[in-house]
Amino acid sequence: MQFKDVLGNGDLRTRLLRMVDSGRTGHSLMFVEKDGQGALPLAMALVQYMMCRDRRTGEDSCGACPVCRRVSGMIHPDLHFAFPVNVPAKASSSRKPLSSAFLQEWRELYAENPYFTEADLYRKLDIGDKAGIINVSQAREILDALSLKSYEGGNKYMVVWLPERMNAEAANTLLKIVEEPSPDTYFFFITHSPERVISTIRSRSQIIRLYPVPQQELAPALEQRLRLSPEEALLYARISGGSPGAAVAMASGGVSAETYFPLLTGMLDNILSGDLPALLEGNDSLVGLGRERQRGFILYSEDFLRKTLMFSKKLSSIADAMPEETVAVERYSGLLPQDFYSKAFKALEEARSAVESNVNAKMVFCHLANVLFAIKNF
Ligand SMILES: [Zn+2]
Repeated sequence: MQFKDVLGNGDLRTRLLRMVDSGRTGHSLMFVEKDGQGALPLAMALVQYMMCRDRRTGEDSCGACPVCRRVSGMIHPDLHFAFPVNVPAKASSSRKPLSSAFLQEWRELYAENPYFTEADLYRKLDIGDKAGIINVSQAREILDALSLKSYEGGNKYMVVWLPERMNAEAANTLLKIVEEPSPDTYFFFITHSPERVISTIRSRSQIIRLYPVPQQELAPALEQRLRLSPEEALLYARISGGSPGAAVAMASGGVSAETYFPLLTGMLDNILSGDLPALLEGNDSLVGLGRERQRGFILYSEDFLRKTLMFSKKLSSIADAMPEETVAVERYSGLLPQDFYSKAFKALEEARSAVESNVNAKMVFCHLANVLFAIKNF
């Protein structure tokens, strides 16, 4: 991975280049991101820049030397990885829950989509509904890997993906080496929840916070990669909150506008016709979607209502409605009262934050339906 191929975060890239060029790279960096935002490709570009034999100082790694090639393929012997794993769902598998046992899957997943999400990883590892963990055996494996002499006589690099998945025993095992790293060892932690990472490790790390990828950069990338129409690409760029990984997961995981559109229009129709029982009954399909898709539905609903609001204000040319939505958007723009919008956006925001905090989905959507119903009907 070269910096030039990482989406977004241009300012951060400049900062990282300057940090390496001035010799001020900390031995423990902690990248903080939202799931799928691109901390792994950014960290990989940084490692490649640090290791490259022929780097263009202040710009990028060369991308062509043998070191760059091995780093890109995640096969350089001085570059190590630890990530949460678990026992695969298939009972026949005898694989131990160690990152080293799943390196092949890890590399394949990264080659397919460097912005993969935590859920993408667990699917790839086939660990069913189990969450991954980094246990003490894995932590010992990290220590073992770093105790070896560097293969090429240079530095050793350890990428720990989701240190918040370490249990206490594992974290304590790693603590000493993070607190007193040897001069040739670099840690790159990538976290989605810094507050859940053991504070002693967090406080020893230089924090690098990623920003959402801007829509105007993400949409064309999605359009090309997933062969979407410009309108669809823009929709996913918007509802993913600037996370390429989340956008790819929504667009390719059967979570598409076609899934959300009938659910939302059904909801709006029941609100407009004043049919509360039917509205509440429709919630069952939302509850069955699972948390990630429920979040997607809420984001899609916000986006759809933003479009109807634009239409109602005669701003249809900048609403970016998809061709298949246009008729519905236009129709609802004539039916929903103007005071519906601000209250509806507020209710959707609250529902999203409740879904993200794992509040019971039945309660969240029941509350949302009641609030939306009341805005129109009381
Ligand atoms: Zn190179």
